[in-house]
Amino acid sequence: MWSVEPPTFTVAETAALCVRGINNRMLADRVRAAREVLTANSERLRQAAVDNSMHTLTEHSCPLGQGLSAKNMEWLYTSQLARQGRPARAHYDSILRAALHGLCSYCQYGAAKTLDHVVPKSRVPALAIDPWNLVPCCGDCNHTLGNAHSDQPGEQLLHPYAMPPTGRWLFARVREQIPVTVEFRAEPAPSLTTLLQQRIRHQFEALKLGAYFARVVAQQLTTTSRILLRHWTAADHQTVRTYLRELAEQEALLDVNGRRAVVYEALADSDWYCHTGFRG
Ligand SMILES: [Zn+2]
Repeated sequence: MWSVEPPTFTVAETAALCVRGINNRMLADRVRAAREVLTANSERLRQAAVDNSMHTLTEHSCPLGQGLSAKNMEWLYTSQLARQGRPARAHYDSILRAALHGLCSYCQYGAAKTLDHVVPKSRVPALAIDPWNLVPCCGDCNHTLGNAHSDQPGEQLLHPYAMPPTGRWLFARVREQIPVTVEFRAEPAPSLTTLLQQRIRHQFEALKLGAYFARVVAQQLTTTSRILLRHWTAADHQTVRTYLRELAEQEALLDVNGRRAVVYEALADSDWYCHTGFRG
């Protein structure tokens, strides 16, 4: 649920690079001939990403080029675009490099090492090599999402290349017990449209971000408690709270939905943590 700069090249350009790696002349000719169909499909995808209708995309609304099969499209992706050493791999790598801070577009935690098909290629094979359907993501998110695709408007993924303003949506609460842990939740602003709120909540659940984030902030929690113990043991709870709020504000300048900011805020909000929790 983080915005990423979209690719600057078109599906026609990606298809042309794929063709350069194909030895089978008949297949190469079919891919060349499909240029206009693939371009029209790409336009449909972009429009759908903007007007919240990605759930309506099907293999009928995005047809394959003449003579091309779903298997051909799958092969073009795995054996050309994604394969090291093939000419089209340059586009794959270019999409990866666009990842915000080099991190996953869906969780902003894992390294972006793979590409996810926003609309699964099993559902709409014609979009298998479309740069606008490929976003940098981590292995965990790619695995968690699998081939899931819903027909429900509220269950569309938010497309990183057409991300609407979401404002703050990530919040956390301290579980007041030792060892200190936090629970994350998605709480979109009521000022957002109902549909956008649904999509944010759904994406948070679908990616299991709550459990994922709770695991990955363990080190931040340990370090924070250690620093407080070393430097702030004699301080009153209000001083501890002020220090944590300052950390939260600094982190939020980088990203209002950043895990670290949200955790510091939750710690500052907890009377229990500021009084005794950090002492373990
Ligand atoms: Zn991820």
